[in-house]
Amino acid sequence: MPSPNPAHTADSIAATRAAILAQSTSHAADYLAQAHARPVAPTPEAVADLPALCGDLPDHPTAPSAVLQQLHLLGSPATVANSGGRYFGFVNGGMVPAALGAAILVNTWDQNAAFQVQSPTAAALEATAIRWIAELFGLPASTGGAVVTGATMANFSCLAAARNALLTRAGWDVENDGLFGAPPITVVVGDEVHSSLIKALGMLGLGRRRIIRVPVDSQGRMRINSLPRLDDRTILCLQAGNVNTGSFDPAAAILPAARDSGAWIHVDGAFGLWAATSDHLRHLTAGYSLADSWATDGHKWPNIGYDCGIALLREPQWLKAAMSIQAAYLQQDGPREPSQYNPELSRRARGVELWAALRSLGRAGLADIVDRTTAHAQRFASSLHAAGFRILNDVVINQVLVDFGSPAHTLATVAHLQQEGTCWCGSTLWQGHTAMRISVSSWATTDADVELSLAAILRAARQG
Ligand SMILES: *Cc1c(COP(=O)(O)O)cnc(C)c1O
Repeated sequence: MPSPNPAHTADSIAATRAAILAQSTSHAADYLAQAHARPVAPTPEAVADLPALCGDLPDHPTAPSAVLQQLHLLGSPATVANSGGRYFGFVNGGMVPAALGAAILVNTWDQNAAFQVQSPTAAALEATAIRWIAELFGLPASTGGAVVTGATMANFSCLAAARNALLTRAGWDVENDGLFGAPPITVVVGDEVHSSLIKALGMLGLGRRRIIRVPVDSQGRMRINSLPRLDDRTILCLQAGNVNTGSFDPAAAILPAARDSGAWIHVDGAFGLWAATSDHLRHLTAGYSLADSWATDGHKWPNIGYDCGIALLREPQWLKAAMSIQAAYLQQDGPREPSQYNPELSRRARGVELWAALRSLGRAGLADIVDRTTAHAQRFASSLHAAGFRILNDVVINQVLVDFGSPAHTLATVAHLQQEGTCWCGSTLWQGHTAMRISVSSWATTDADVELSLAAILRAARQG
């Protein structure tokens, strides 16, 4: 049988790899050079070109260089320009340079981060990154955890540990015997809980609907007086950083008594917990260190690139109890095995980018991203307020909600803005009010970006 590539030698492999790496770096540099200038949302023409990439699977090989060329030509223009400084949708940041560089290197290494023996580098760096984040958040020295794909899986992992801990204490082995017949667990959440946490409860068999929702105030913070009685069969979920308003549940007022009840306290701090890095904003995170578990994201406020979430546990053995697997070919003793704390087995070494970004930014660099984006959010809010529009939230961190007068006018303003392309903001419904949502999450946003975007928003509002 003839080989499709007769010259399959070590030299030819090395040459092909060197060429593709040089070409991809060149396309990437070209892409980033345009990131600040191009329309933030892709043009309809660029999106209309995508079917050219979506034909039948070819029967025969194509040169990798030709594939990459086509990908850059047709794929790049139909991306959303997160890397420029004027994307304010969801809570999406850019990627700091150290994360970008490390991502290229780590993909080149092609490591499987499941076990120490598969990648000592990946195992050491993710453990280090977890320790650094626990320190940044002021968490107990015992804290350990896992690097997962995002806050959804971080919530899932922490809640799996919570389920194991509470049921173990009640004499039930949930990992082996499942939930049928188990003592019931009550889950308490704030009424403005993030939808991903509800999804995690569903995946864990704890039920999307079998929850107690605590009423909240106008900012989305739990009302302390409305908390139900907690006990050692309760998981209480607090939120640090509401995805719309950026508000924080009053942890300092809730946590000491909640801890005494024996409840497991979980914190969804996907982006808000990073406020702990700032001398000006740390007070917002007061009290959260008393919790049992914390979920956060590397790919939101710290700008570490997709995908990167972190699950943190005061007593990491509960996560291990929920996540570890046994197989004849697996070593069980020795140092921390990443997969024993992780919902996944084989996975990419995303802890390396996390390590690189934290190593590069340091405490001051993280605080600078948090403080600068918060200042930009305040500038948006004060200017739009001065122009006569209503700001629906207290701008405590990087989130702003703007009401342009009526739901129809607000939605039309958002549509005009997205179409015009200077910047990108989404819409939301906040406690019955239709609003434009501005989330300033990128390290790459400049003062000039904010002024250009403000002008574009005002133009869009006049058009609407
Ligand atoms: C974004 C977000 C999540 C979900 O995070 P992913 O990384 O998208 O999975 C959960 N909770 C809050 C508060 C968030 O802002």
